[in-house]
Amino acid sequence: MVCGISRPTCAGGVSADPSNMPFSVYLHFPFCRNKCSYCDFYKALYDPDEERRFYDALMIETRLRGEQWPSDDRIVTSIFVGGGTPSLTRIDFLAKWLDELKKQFTVLEGLEFSIENNPESVTVELLKSYRALEINRPTFGIQSFHPTLLKLLDRRHRIEDSHRAVYLTNALRFTNFGTDLIFALPQQTSRMLSSDLDQLLELDPPHVSFYQLTIEPETPLAREVAVGRVKPIDDDLALAMYRGGCEKLAEAGYHRYEVSSFAKPGFECRHNISYWEGSDYLGLGPSAHSFVQGRRFANVSSVGRYVAALDGGEYPIEVDRSGVEERMVEAIMLGLRMTRGIDRRAFADRFGQNVEDRLDRKQYDLLVESGHVIPDRGYIRLSENGFYVADEITRRLLK
Ligand code: SF4
Repeated sequence: MVCGISRPTCAGGVSADPSNMPFSVYLHFPFCRNKCSYCDFYKALYDPDEERRFYDALMIETRLRGEQWPSDDRIVTSIFVGGGTPSLTRIDFLAKWLDELKKQFTVLEGLEFSIENNPESVTVELLKSYRALEINRPTFGIQSFHPTLLKLLDRRHRIEDSHRAVYLTNALRFTNFGTDLIFALPQQTSRMLSSDLDQLLELDPPHVSFYQLTIEPETPLAREVAVGRVKPIDDDLALAMYRGGCEKLAEAGYHRYEVSSFAKPGFECRHNISYWEGSDYLGLGPSAHSFVQGRRFANVSSVGRYVAALDGGEYPIEVDRSGVEERMVEAIMLGLRMTRGIDRRAFADRFGQNVEDRLDRKQYDLLVESGHVIPDRGYIRLSENGFYVADEITRRLLK
């Protein structure tokens, strides 16, 4: 358990029997109104007929998975609807899918239920519909409060959309919501980031995802960089931005529980923590990943192929990565991202070997000596300085 976060209690006749396997459900809603310049998630342009076909296939996938893993074996402890742009969804379709999910699995009453939103698509009606479906954690892709940066990213929303989305969320008395902010954007200065953080903190969100832009290959932004029209900021400035941002968020009462995740006490995202802790999760929809009973697999990244596979009564699986080595590497990567670190005993129980035996011993000793890595009360974790170069450390340890 991380930082005193408690799991939701069982209610409504759902048994807390530890032999029941808790697991999280992720739904990938694959449609967007446009394609942002930096984005490499799987998405297709929104089309109402395609949405209908997607949901029809999703109902089949949910039923097949329910038959595969009987309801009394599993308790759904969190649901996360991501994308894509889930705030474009038809609510009646989403409601129907939820009914099917509840028919197939035991869903914990009052569980954390998140949905991602693009600020421009948030309305009172949408938020009221969320409430009716017991969605209790909307998140908003604010990214920046600077119009020039939003334009660079090809985001469709304006600054007032972000303010309005949060205002409505508060007005409708959601006690939990999340916000996303990006740093290390081309053209961004420290001053611009500082003003972004000030404006975000004025909105007083319970949760902040503060993440660094990665220029992913094959994206429009990467092509702009390749031809010299856009210049990425340098690594030292990016590091300074991260440090400054962490300090500012800490001063405002947010604690970092993962490299990019900051929360007020009690508002950590349980769904993401369950991923990082290596619990089972079921991903539904195109490109969604799953990890269930030691098996790791990913769905096809295409709405067309997803629908065709399910119409033919087949699972829409593209990649099956169930190797122990891959799971070990992932457990190390995810563990190091968390403030708590890698749980040595849990690692040994899961893989039958000590975590140090899977690490590059020479690098490990050097990083412990330099103070970047701390072997600590049953955990191996990164120090404050280590966190600033987490990716580099992970690379070195996993050589
Ligand atoms: S809205 Fe989100 S998922 Fe869609 S293109 Fe933009 S960043 Fe990607």
